Amino acid sequence: MMYETIAAVSTPLGEGGISIIRVSGEGALTEVERIFRSKTKLTEADSHTIHYGHIVDPDNGEKVEEVLVTVMKGPRSFTAEDVVEINAHGGIISVRKVMDLLLQQQIRVAEPGEFTKRAFLNGRIDLSQAEAVMDLIRSKSDRAFSVAMKQAEGQLSTRIKQLRHILIETLAHIEVNIDYPEHDVEELTSLFIQERCGQVISEIEKLLKTASEGKILREGIVTAIIGRPNVGKSSLLNALAQDNKAIVTDIPGTTRDVIEEFVTINGIPLRLLDTAGIRETSDIVERLGVERSRSALQEADLVLFVVNHNEPLHPDEREWMQQIVGRQVIVIVNKMDLPKRLEEDELKAVFGEGSIVTMSVKEQEGMDSLEKSISALFFSGSIESNDMTYVSNVRHISLLKKTLQSLHDAVEASEQGIPIDMIQIDVRTAWELLGEIIGDAVGDSLIDQIFSQFCLGK
Ligand code: GDP
Ligand code: ZN
Repeated sequence: MMYETIAAVSTPLGEGGISIIRVSGEGALTEVERIFRSKTKLTEADSHTIHYGHIVDPDNGEKVEEVLVTVMKGPRSFTAEDVVEINAHGGIISVRKVMDLLLQQQIRVAEPGEFTKRAFLNGRIDLSQAEAVMDLIRSKSDRAFSVAMKQAEGQLSTRIKQLRHILIETLAHIEVNIDYPEHDVEELTSLFIQERCGQVISEIEKLLKTASEGKILREGIVTAIIGRPNVGKSSLLNALAQDNKAIVTDIPGTTRDVIEEFVTINGIPLRLLDTAGIRETSDIVERLGVERSRSALQEADLVLFVVNHNEPLHPDEREWMQQIVGRQVIVIVNKMDLPKRLEEDELKAVFGEGSIVTMSVKEQEGMDSLEKSISALFFSGSIESNDMTYVSNVRHISLLKKTLQSLHDAVEASEQGIPIDMIQIDVRTAWELLGEIIGDAVGDSLIDQIFSQFCLGK
C-alpha cells in the first residue's frame, strides 16, 4: 500500500556535516524529480542507486544545494514504499531551503514516527521492532544501543512467535478434545495443557527477568551522590562527567539543586544526581535542594556516599549510614591526599571492606577503582552476555505479566479438573496478549499512541 508522500530531516540538525532528508510515498520519485537536476532521471533510476546532482528552484532554475540522492524503491525500502534520501552537506540553512522546495511540491511534512509507522503498517516490521527503533533513537549508551539493535533485528519477536506457536498447538489439542470428549483424551489434554503452558510460563519468566536489566540499560542506573557539604561531591560528578556543569566552590552548601549528568562507565550508563547534601537546614533555597536530594536518594539504584578522609565522621553521616545500609552503596573516601582523620573501620563494619573506595578527586587518584567497583556491582552476572533477548519496553513487560497470569489461571484450572472449554479461554487470551507485543491484532489508537512518541524523521 502507498500513502501520501511525506518528508522530514532524519538526521539531527546541526550534528555532523551531512543532513539527510527522507522522502517516502507514492510520489517520492516524481516529486523530488521536479527539483533535482542530474544525469539520470530519478523516475528512470534503478532501485538502490545513488545520484549526484543539484537541488534547484524550479521557478528560476537557481541551484540551491549540491546533493547525493539515494533511490530505494518499495517494497525494498525502510517504509516498504518508494523512498528518496537527499544527502545535503551545507548546514541548516540549505537543508531548510531544500525542505521548503520539497513542501512546495505534492509533499507534506512527516509526523513524528510516521516513517516507522508506515514500515509497520506496510508489514515491513512488526510492532516490537518498531518500538525498538524508537528505543534506538533514545538509547544513550553503546550497550543500550546494541540491545535495541538486537530487538530491532527481531530477536524478541522470534521468541514471542515461538511461544505463540506452542500455545496454538495447545489450543488445537483442546479443540480436538472438545470435538471428541472422551474421558482418557480429556486426561491427556489436561496433561498437555499443564506441560505446554508450564513451558511458556518459564520462558516468559526468563524474559521478565531481563526486563529490569533492560530498563537500566535504557534509562541508566540512577545514581545519587550524597554526602556532607564540601566533601567533594560536585568535584566527583565533574570528574566523572568530565565537564563543568556543577559549580565547584569552597563555600559549604553551594550545590543548591540536584544536578543531573548522564555518563557511561565501562559501557554502563549512569544517571548521576549530585545532591545538596541531606541535612536539616533553614535556608529556603537550600531546603528545596535538600528535599529533592531526599527523593533522588529514594529513587536511586546506586548510592555513592562521599566522606572526607581528612575529617572524623559527623553525626549526620552516622545517621545516613543507617539509612542507606542494605542498599547498593559505594562509600567514597575522598581527599586521600590530605592526612587521615576518618574512622574507616566504622565504615568497613557497616558496609564491608569491598564497598569502600579511597580516592582523591583532586589528584585524580583512585578513579579507576571507583569505576571498577561500579561495573563489578552491576555486571557481575548475566547482563554481560550478548545473546540475551532483552525486554526493556514498559508495554512489553506489562503484556508479558498479563500473559503469565492467564497461563497460571489455565494451569490451575486444569489441575482442578475444570472443564476444558473454560481453560481454552485462558490459553486463547495468553495467545492474544503475546500477539499484542508483536502487533498482531492491535487497535488503531494504540498504534497511533506508540508512533507519536517517535522523533521526527524516523
Ligand atoms: P561538595 O560540596 O561535596 O559538592 O564539594 P565540592 O566538590 O564543591 O568540593 C569542595 C572543595 O573540596 C573544593 O575546594 C574542591 O576543590 C575540594 N576537593 C574536592 N576533592 C578533593 C580532593 O580529593 N582533595 C582535596 N584536597 N580537595 C578536594
Ligand atoms: Zn557540591
